[in-house]
Amino acid sequence: MESNLLSTLEAMGDYDPNSMPVEQARQLIQQFLTALTDQESVSLRNALQRTLAADVLSPMNVPPHDYSAMDGYALRAADLEAVPCKLKVIGSAYAGRPFSGRVSAGECVRIMTGSLIPDDCDCVVMQEKVKVDGAMIAIADAYRRGENIRHTGEDIAQGATVLTRGQVIRPAEMGLLASLGFSEVRVYRKLKVALFSTGDELRQPGSPLAAGQIYDSNRYTLLGMLGELGAEVIDMGSIRDDKDTLKAAFQQAAAQADVIITSGGVSVGEADYIKQLLQEIGEVVFWKIAMKPGRPLAYGKIGSCHFFGLPGNPVAVMVTFQQFVRDALRVLMGQHIKPAMELQAVCTHPIRKIPGRTEFQRGILSQDENNRWVVRTTGEQGSGILSSMSKANCFIVLPVSQGNVEAGNAVRVQPF
Ligand code: AMP
Ligand code: MG
Repeated sequence: MESNLLSTLEAMGDYDPNSMPVEQARQLIQQFLTALTDQESVSLRNALQRTLAADVLSPMNVPPHDYSAMDGYALRAADLEAVPCKLKVIGSAYAGRPFSGRVSAGECVRIMTGSLIPDDCDCVVMQEKVKVDGAMIAIADAYRRGENIRHTGEDIAQGATVLTRGQVIRPAEMGLLASLGFSEVRVYRKLKVALFSTGDELRQPGSPLAAGQIYDSNRYTLLGMLGELGAEVIDMGSIRDDKDTLKAAFQQAAAQADVIITSGGVSVGEADYIKQLLQEIGEVVFWKIAMKPGRPLAYGKIGSCHFFGLPGNPVAVMVTFQQFVRDALRVLMGQHIKPAMELQAVCTHPIRKIPGRTEFQRGILSQDENNRWVVRTTGEQGSGILSSMSKANCFIVLPVSQGNVEAGNAVRVQPF
């Protein structure tokens, strides 16, 4: 292990690379992460999932002018000082087709929602409050200046900070940026993630299985989860459990990527190639986390490249990715991260649990007839049962010290 990593770890005192508590592992990983700084401009159309590299200031007022908030009549509020009164309708204003003439005392303009307020007018009276009589309207009540008008800069003032650096661009941000006239945005470059599975037993979907072989499903769940984050994936397929082949794969990955993610080959009893290799060509921070599923999870670095060695078990892959890797990648992408949303729910069935590890059980969260949040597990929680992840809509998070859960107990739930 190289010096800087080692000294950081030694300074941590109670650090145990063989059984790291979940929270400690999260904090430890965070200490090694430095966000990307390389930036590029992309067209707004291609900006989804990207991360803003600079604050976005509004180049304009929104709305840019005064607009009508109602269908009705634009007029001069001063004309309503003595009501009831009658005004002459001298024209119409539609969205995108403003009324360009002058409006004098005693006159008004028929106006539609979203139309520009004519120059001389300062008030809109809803059509429901008006009696139409040929070219005249009768108004019974007084209205104040500014009524039913969306004023210039009311939503966003020119120069105001609309989005901050580190914001991920979602559909709402796409629309917001478009509403301000941006056709290009400044973003961080994509994070490059090299991905490979390990195992002699792995075959690719689409080819037949011989006895003892299984399909490489982990790479597909990982491709999906990385795709949701907008990472640039370097898909290296599956690699045999052979030390030299693995070493070459790691070196090739480290030369191209910011992050390497592998699955398999980190469990106890397995030919310990990955651990040995990592210690040879890089540095290892920890190997095992006090959690279930996902106990064998390696984190380390090869040069400047981060390495996450996920377990082979398909459910453990998803759990460890969601609990550790995803936020780490977001930080590297330059994004703001927020703690996972959690709520309390009543567990409707008992759950067996032995104290000592944090458990992430797959749960089904719903509301009962009293609108109370209730949760049950998806059933069999074996870490190879990927259908449990597909059925689940949440994790039931059972803390380290927790023992068995009785039906009716409150539990922590992370919806997904
Ligand atoms: P390992 O950590 O390599 O011992 O793998 C643990 C378990 O996960 C074994 O049953 C493996 O066959 C299975 N496994 C490993 N890699 C994959 C993969 N890419 N897709 C599906 N299952 C896997
Ligand atoms: Mg294996």
